[in-house]
Amino acid sequence: MAVFCTKCGAQNEDYLQNCAQCQAPLPQTGGYQPIQPPTPMYGSGPIQDWQARGANKKIAAGICGILVGTFGVHKFILGYQTEGIIMLLVSLLSCGMLAIVMQIIGIVEGIMYLTKSDEDFVRTYVEGRKGWF
Ligand SMILES: [Zn+2]
Repeated sequence: MAVFCTKCGAQNEDYLQNCAQCQAPLPQTGGYQPIQPPTPMYGSGPIQDWQARGANKKIAAGICGILVGTFGVHKFILGYQTEGIIMLLVSLLSCGMLAIVMQIIGIVEGIMYLTKSDEDFVRTYVEGRKGWF
């Protein structure tokens, strides 16, 4: 491979950046391709605003489930009044004996909320009204 100087016409090896004869910059031939950033995907479908549809409760419900799931707080956050009251009553009426069970349920559910994507969370718990797990 050889490149010809655009200024003096001398033949140069293509790894040279400047002409060996006149020091003029040589045209770059092959081998050098500027890396193009990936083209953003425009118009790839309507963007769903999962936050506005209930995913904004995901973090709060998940954390409350893990920390105070015993009292069904995360159920109330999600609007599951019945399930929340069940957890609260079971914990209180058993004088705390079953509170540990409710706490475990709360932790498991809290982790499930937090590990779901916003879309999954909305579909399962906000629109699907899945009361347990
Ligand atoms: Zn030259």
